[in-house]
Amino acid sequence: MKARMTEKSATDRLQKVGLEVTEHRLQVLMAVGNTPHPSSAPEVLGLIRAKKDINRVTVYRILDLLVEHEVLNRLGLGEKSQRFCLRGAREDEHPHFHCTCCDRYLCLNVPALPFDHKALADLSLDIRHVDIRLEGLCPACQKIKK
Ligand SMILES: [Zn+2]
Ligand SMILES: [Zn+2]
Repeated sequence: MKARMTEKSATDRLQKVGLEVTEHRLQVLMAVGNTPHPSSAPEVLGLIRAKKDINRVTVYRILDLLVEHEVLNRLGLGEKSQRFCLRGAREDEHPHFHCTCCDRYLCLNVPALPFDHKALADLSLDIRHVDIRLEGLCPACQKIKK
């Protein structure tokens, strides 16, 4: 999430998960990859439409596809508050901050919080993804509340 997503890195990322590289998929991946905070589907659509014509359904479908292939994280519950950000490798997942006041999300650029997988060994769960969300007020909302 730090590095800029170029056409080349977006291409690599799609190929790595076995997806065919198409112009639209590259556009969606670059739009998400180059936004520093998790973006909503309408935001992604707006970013791409600023440059090219793209169908809304196409964008939504590609976002779903990229989540399915573990290229993107999907945050938030409910259709309206869904946000998307670039997913790291399994050992490199990042936590998120959610502002309960303005509903904004932030990607936290810290290593995943310490999580003791061994302590859960008894449950024999096959854990695929760690999704850690911190909730509270962002700086702007703290000011309003004062
Ligand atoms: Zn806020
Ligand atoms: Zn993120």
